[in-house]
Amino acid sequence: MALTSSFPSVSLAHKPTVLEQLHNVSSQSGVNVWIKRDDCTGLLFGGNKARQLEYYIGQALEEQADVLLTTGAVQSNHVRSTVAAARKLGIDVEVQLENRVSTNSAAYHNSGNALLVKLMGATVHHIDIGDDEDAADKALDRRADVLREDGRRPYIIPLSNAHTPWGALGYVEAAEELLKQQQDFGINVDHYVVASGSASTHAGLLTGLRASGSNVPVHGICVRRDATSQIERVKKKSTAVARLLNLDPDIATDSIICHDDALWPGYGMISDAVADTLKYMAQSEGIVLDPTYTAKSFHGLRSLVKQGVIAGGETVVYIHTGGSPAIFAYPELTQG
Ligand SMILES: *Cc1c(COP(=O)(O)O)cnc(C)c1O
Repeated sequence: MALTSSFPSVSLAHKPTVLEQLHNVSSQSGVNVWIKRDDCTGLLFGGNKARQLEYYIGQALEEQADVLLTTGAVQSNHVRSTVAAARKLGIDVEVQLENRVSTNSAAYHNSGNALLVKLMGATVHHIDIGDDEDAADKALDRRADVLREDGRRPYIIPLSNAHTPWGALGYVEAAEELLKQQQDFGINVDHYVVASGSASTHAGLLTGLRASGSNVPVHGICVRRDATSQIERVKKKSTAVARLLNLDPDIATDSIICHDDALWPGYGMISDAVADTLKYMAQSEGIVLDPTYTAKSFHGLRSLVKQGVIAGGETVVYIHTGGSPAIFAYPELTQG
């Protein structure tokens, strides 16, 4: 039986997502690079949040919530996906947009995910707190209090690490899905590479693999914090996920790997080297990466190949976590 089958969930993502080989990248790098197309989960431009929301909203409905509340950056894929899920399921939704990235770019504020959130007519609250998760959560709590006074039943989908990681269950499920696909294709995987942000994806995937008996390294590529702080975060989240599943809480904690060389110059900002990786993927495979997450995670994969951590002839699965609409918020990438 699937590890997560006893938890409430709703159906949002098109699953299983495709696992396919990147033939051009593979022949150019000498490594067998496969891609798990979680950019194509179906829910309004896809991405990893569709899998996470299946379990968060499962909980919300269990608690008979009638309005979802969440928070994220102006170009948040999570916010866009939450609004799309709420619209699909007919639940009310309010979102909070944080000014996490300091830019006056009109495209950043109005195009990409920001455009989609407006298009779906979500109630939007703007908060000017910069990059402060606790302040963002407190603002959500205050809004939930107001809604409760009005007789509503709000459910908060938080991003900080101080809550039950229901969303990570979506990636425990994805780990089982992936192992089955590998078996069907008859491939032996030597490495996984995935973006590591709130760490729901990284911790869920790692815990799901370990619980299924796989000891293959999972390389988390930092997109928001340096490797030292991210390892702590993944550790805390994996422990919590393992507890939810009634597993040894330390089943994954010895094998947490994070790399932060693609992080610079910080969350939501992209270096020239990472921008070159974004263009390389578009031009060699016709696949779009986004500047905040996946250009960094794929750049991380390329660095690991360069460093020989992923050796010639080995097989790596890259988890494409989505983010495609955000490309339209960064038109400067294609200028010059
Ligand atoms: C949110 C997001 C991530 C990071 O996933 P976490 O589960 O928060 O670590 C990676 N890629 C994309 C495109 C995202 O939107």
